Amino acid sequence: MGIFGVIGHPISHSMSPIMHNCEFKKLGCPHHYTAFDVHPDNLKNAIDGMRALNILGLNVTIPHKVAVMEWLDEIDEEARLIGAVNTIKNENGRLIGSNTDGEGYLRSLKELIDHPFHDKNVLIIGAGGASRAIVTALARYGVSRIDIANRTLQKAEQLAMHVRQFGKSNAIPLKEAEEKLSTYGIIVNTTSVGMSPNLPDMPINIHHLEKGTIVSDLIYNPLSTMFLKKAKEKGAITANGVGMFVHQGALSFEKWLGIAPNTERMTETVLKKLGG
Ligand code: NAP
Repeated sequence: MGIFGVIGHPISHSMSPIMHNCEFKKLGCPHHYTAFDVHPDNLKNAIDGMRALNILGLNVTIPHKVAVMEWLDEIDEEARLIGAVNTIKNENGRLIGSNTDGEGYLRSLKELIDHPFHDKNVLIIGAGGASRAIVTALARYGVSRIDIANRTLQKAEQLAMHVRQFGKSNAIPLKEAEEKLSTYGIIVNTTSVGMSPNLPDMPINIHHLEKGTIVSDLIYNPLSTMFLKKAKEKGAITANGVGMFVHQGALSFEKWLGIAPNTERMTETVLKKLGG
């Protein structure tokens, strides 16, 4: 039997254990996945423990995604570009860090849009860790332009500078994003605004949103944020954060075991858990 898990702090609400354990069971894999609450002071000990206990794979979540990089033996290209690790694979004691968040998001977007979207202008709201993974993946995929709007404009400017090594990107104030909303084909909320319990909050005003725009929100609790509800009312094509969550997990699973899990089944497991 192999042991897998997720490290974070706090971690009790993680849905990764149920998602991966259901999939192990369905595929007949004799493995177990568990959540480890690791205080930042204990991060190095936890990684040493991964080697000592021969834990085969870990997901890494807030607040360890950047700090953990220092303790790994190798970081793959995607994780290096994103500057954070969400997946560790233990290869005979050698720990390899990768990041499946950006590619996971991209896969969820490809499920939503059934044709290439290289011609789209994209608005990303937020400039935190999740935003960095997503803009890196979208820029490497090659969209027309990525504008980044954030409460703290300076963080958006830093991120836009990072994106410019792959393609066109600007940092803009939230107000400007609201006024230019009709110029975007894809709009993504990567902030925590609207997350439970702050249900009525919206990351931006969507007065100028055009019908048919793709609007996605990384939040999955609630399954439909006020931002998504209002966008849908205006005729947008909307998606919540479940797709990204499932696909980042599926990509980690594939890295660890070399087999692709059933993402439809994983989605069902997560939605059942979330009451959707
Ligand atoms: P983070 O690094 O802390 O970044 C938070 C972002 O939200 C920053 O841009 C921050 O702006 C903005 N923000 C926070 N509170 C705000 C407020 N009251 N008003 C305006 N902006 C605000 O967090 P993260 O790791 O990127 O996560 C962001 C969201 O993505 C969370 O809701 C998380 O649950 C979700 N997420 C989902 C998945 C998935 O698989 N679906 C994966 C990862 C994350 P400032 O820079 O101005 O502080």
